Formats: sequence, C-alpha cells, structure tokens
Amino acid sequence: MENIYFDHAATTLTDPLVVEAMLPYFTEEYGNPSSLHERGLHAKKAVTEARMKIAELLHCKPTEIFFTSGGTEGDNWVIKGSCFGRLKKKGHIITTAIEHHAVLHTCRFVEQLGFDVTYLPVDEKGGISLVDLNRAIRPDTFLISIMYANNEVGTLAPIGEIAEIAHKRGIAFHTDAVQAIGHFEERMDASGITFLTASAHKFGGPKGIGFLYMKEGTVLTPLMHGGAQEQQLRSGTENVPGIVGMAKALEIADAGREERENHVRELRDYFANRLLNEVPRCQRNGDAEECLPGILNVSFLGIQASSLLVFLDMAGIHCSGGSACSSASSEPSHVLKAMGLSQAWLEGSIRFTLSWQNTREQVDYAAEKIKEYVEKLRKQNPGWERR
Ligand SMILES: *Cc1c(COP(=O)(O)O)cnc(C)c1O
Repeated sequence: MENIYFDHAATTLTDPLVVEAMLPYFTEEYGNPSSLHERGLHAKKAVTEARMKIAELLHCKPTEIFFTSGGTEGDNWVIKGSCFGRLKKKGHIITTAIEHHAVLHTCRFVEQLGFDVTYLPVDEKGGISLVDLNRAIRPDTFLISIMYANNEVGTLAPIGEIAEIAHKRGIAFHTDAVQAIGHFEERMDASGITFLTASAHKFGGPKGIGFLYMKEGTVLTPLMHGGAQEQQLRSGTENVPGIVGMAKALEIADAGREERENHVRELRDYFANRLLNEVPRCQRNGDAEECLPGILNVSFLGIQASSLLVFLDMAGIHCSGGSACSSASSEPSHVLKAMGLSQAWLEGSIRFTLSWQNTREQVDYAAEKIKEYVEKLRKQNPGWERR
C-alpha cells in the first residue's frame, strides 16, 4: 500500500471540484476586482459571491468577512491590530500555553512592545479552566485569544462559555478556528465571538487564502495599508482564484459534513483502539471526548518519534510528530509539555490526522506497520522499559 496520508491537520488535498471552480480565474477571468471595466467587474462579482456564500454558511453578514492570506495572517492581524490601536494605553491579553505559534509568537512580539500577556495553563487533556480564565481578567484586559480546537491533540475549548465571559466583561474574544472550520456547523450571529480566524487549506481549499470574521462594529487597526480593499482594512489585490476556491471548499465541507465526520470519528476511534490494545506501553494524548473527529495523538514509550516517522514514511505512511510547523525544528511540542507529559512520553509522540478520504484498509496497514516498527526501535534501545 502506498501513500497513506495521515497529516490532514498540516494541510488537505485541494478538492478537484475546488480546482475546477478556481481555474477560470487564472485564465479568461483574470481581471482585477478593483478595475471598472468588464473583466474587473466579473472578478469583483466572483469575490462578492464567494463572500456571500461564506457568510451564509457561517450565519453572519458578508461585511463581517475579510479575506486574508490564511491562518497566520488572521492571528497576527487580530493580536497586532488590537495592540496597534492602543499603543499609548497598552493593556493586557489572555491566551493559552497551547496556541499555534501564529498566536504565541505574536503575543511574544507584542510583549516586547510593552503589552502584558497571560498564558493560561492547561490540564493533562489540554483543557483550560474557566476559573483560571475569570481570575486572569484584569481591568485593562482588552483581548482573549483562545483556539477553538488544538492542532496537535484536537482538544476543543468551551468556546460558548469563554465568549459569554468575555462579553460580560466587555472584552473582545478571538478564536483561532483554523482546525475547526469545515468540521462543525458555526452560527456566528449567536456565538458571541468577536474575531474568528480560518484558513482554506485546512478544509479542502487552496493554500495562501483564509478569512477573518470580524463582528460588526468592531475596530481593528489594519496591518496592510495600500489600495483600501476589504473595507479599507486589508489592502492588496484580492486573491480571486483563492477566494473562489475557499468558498467552494466550505460549501463542499458543509454539504457532506455529518456523513464525513461520522466516518472520520469511527475510523479514528478504531485506529486508537487498535494501537492502545496491540502496542504495549503507548498512550493517547488529549481529550478522547471533547476532541476534533480526525485527530489522534499517541505516545510510544521508549522510541524517538523522529525515527518512527522515518520508518513510516518509507512505508508510505505520512504523518507528523506534533505539528507540521514545529517538526522541522525538532523542538519538543509546547502543547504536550504544557499538558505535563514527561520527557520519555514527549519524545515518542506522533500525530495522525485523518480525513474522510482515509479508509479502514489504510488504518489496518498503518497499525500493523506501527506495531512492527515500535518493536524494532525498542529492541535498539535496550533498557527502555526502565526509564
Ligand atoms: C495551520 C494553522 C494555522 C496557520 O494557518 P496558515 O493558513 O497555514 O497560515 C494557524 N492556526 C492553527 C490552529 C493551524 O492549524
């Protein structure tokens, strides 16, 4: 068996129907949406329709959707943009220790500008405590940024409750929902969320395009100044093919949601059970209930994840240790560390992220290979059990 892709939290296949929808905007319809001639108007119409479609699917107003270059930009924009609006006044932000680096590193940056940031701890499943959140709030807290679903272990945050707390205290609430959009039905109108970050390539769309939902009446300083696109808040010629593709991808995700998510959840649980029952000394990391359907983070004691990843890759099984972004740096996962995993369990952790395209045959093949390789690697590491 070849090319088993279990890294859907890193990126997804661009759906062929999405590619098909995008193609005309590279060729016949290559106009700039800001041009007033017919070519421009066609492109503008495509952008407008995509915005309306996304707003319809998220139950919000088209004017609340701002196109960005993806998740990283959305996260940067909310945090830096909020701070840039109060450079003299300064103030306090609350986030968590397990955010994506697009949030964490941006928070570190604004700390250097003189802003205070609280990084809420998480429990052993990756969950935050609302008591901690309430306690962390200060009179000068102006932003709470907590991810919807963690990209390494899949743990879901209690978004509704956080939104309520933020709303009651008059604080803006941002959620990095990059891993959640497409998997859950969203009703932005009733959510209490101020800002929501999404990225197309995590839900079957192309890379380099995303959107930021910004609640009507919210103020956010732009990061991009120029031609005044996106209601003058995000300048730059629109990525027309990307925008069209993203709307199509969200439409596809929405239409088949229940069936796909059930398939993925079932497959993931089957995979988890096989590994936990058949490989000695392994553990599942994260929250088995309050979790994204397709994510499975497992630690195998006595092995180095990087060695297992190489073996699996050679067997055609593609997955990650922790997140794709941090695996290149071979830094131990900040998420698993925050969850309190000891070094021995940290070292052997692998993230499998499944999609509706994966099959039971693939999972069975992977489980057999993992059993074989873990045993082999442990043999090369005598005394591993005593660690
Ligand atoms: C992938 C990811 C991002 C970054 O999105 P890009 O579009 O790749 O910049 C941000 N946050 C989370 C949770 C992610 O999984």
